Amino acid sequence: MGKPTVLLIQPPIHDFALYDLYLKPYGLLRIGKWLERSGWRVDFVNALDYKDNETTARLGRGKRKSNGTGKFHRTELPFPLKKTERKRRFARYGILPGVFKRKLSESSPDIIMITSGMTYWYRGVVEAVETSRTIHPDIPIAVGGIYATLMPDHCRKSTGADFVVEGDAEPTVRRILNELGLPVPSAGIEGPLLLENVWQDAGIIRVNTGCPYRCDYCASAVICSSFTPGEAERAFSQLEEMHKRAGTVNFAFYDDALLINKERVLIPFLEKVIQSGLELNFYLPNAVHLQFLDREIANLMVRAGFREIRLGFESSSSDFHRRHDDKYSEGDFPAAVRNLKNAGFKPKDITVYILAGLPRQDYREVEESVRYAADFGVKVSLAEYSPVPGTPLWRESVEISPLPLEEEPLYHNNTFFSMEWEGFTLENLNYLKQLSLSFNRKL
Ligand code: SF4
Repeated sequence: MGKPTVLLIQPPIHDFALYDLYLKPYGLLRIGKWLERSGWRVDFVNALDYKDNETTARLGRGKRKSNGTGKFHRTELPFPLKKTERKRRFARYGILPGVFKRKLSESSPDIIMITSGMTYWYRGVVEAVETSRTIHPDIPIAVGGIYATLMPDHCRKSTGADFVVEGDAEPTVRRILNELGLPVPSAGIEGPLLLENVWQDAGIIRVNTGCPYRCDYCASAVICSSFTPGEAERAFSQLEEMHKRAGTVNFAFYDDALLINKERVLIPFLEKVIQSGLELNFYLPNAVHLQFLDREIANLMVRAGFREIRLGFESSSSDFHRRHDDKYSEGDFPAAVRNLKNAGFKPKDITVYILAGLPRQDYREVEESVRYAADFGVKVSLAEYSPVPGTPLWRESVEISPLPLEEEPLYHNNTFFSMEWEGFTLENLNYLKQLSLSFNRKL
């Protein structure tokens, strides 16, 4: 008997706009490595493969940057909703449907595993399940990832998948394999599958898992219930392996809480990077906790090769922090910016996120925060609120929004500005965007 085979699928994404800011199927490829180490054959179809030759020949090459970010292939789709006043262009991002289909048919799997991202990307997951079904009608399909975790019932119904994997994949995947009479790995999950095509332009590192904070607008605790510090040694050897085998020099951190427990994890990790003499670039698609940005860590980050810093400031209002996240004390922000600039980060390398459009938030509070942050000579970026199922703010969002958030996840997309009210209109939001832009241009 041959090896059991799993077909892993990164689905295409249907959205109004999409930019590849280190968007990689990290969790799915960790499952791939876990199964491969236990004797499985692993096939992987990446519908977001921006290097696919056939798609490039038809649609052209999307603009990519040397830091590993850039555009995906894009094909326009009809606007998906009937009852919405503000229509925007909608598109499918990824390889051509015909290419996707052919790649799926090249595998003869015993089980198919599909990952999912944002809830409002669910239509790409539906497409992946439907296409897989037409090609492999008798093969069980499991869908996991963020959408599957946050909206398991919706996922079951919309995709018709045989299994929906909620939260931590390992125990559920073990149960599914067992139920199907397929071999169950005895070891634990560790590191992602090393595929040159995926990791060459940018690698992913995650040193810690989860976040100890409980901000009421964030899904971190729903996706991963507790904070687990990682191991510097292990994270470094994964980075080293990726660098050696795929030639990766750009690395993005997927951590929600990179600086927590930094003395035990991040500091020794960065010291290893510095000692290795490797010339690497580090990026932060997720913001870091600015209260932990002391002089030591700021200096180490510069020496290790961090090219940017993103700060989760959210608001300059102490009332905001008391109500929503309890993660900020006055003085933290000026100290963090001072430490970063003294360490050598330029104003344009430091981006500060200000949250905009929370339920009942007044736009004037956001305006004050934008002006306050910009005064420190850093880039200001509005993080437009997107209601996320399972978060403490979800119920309130559903109650006050005129949009059917529970029925149609597309409305979670911040393009719909679902929390609009007379204290924060679309006009106010556009004004705040312009204001931030005008400050950023002066840097
Ligand atoms: S917003 Fe940041 S600090 Fe708050 S729970 Fe999410 S990851 Fe943690």
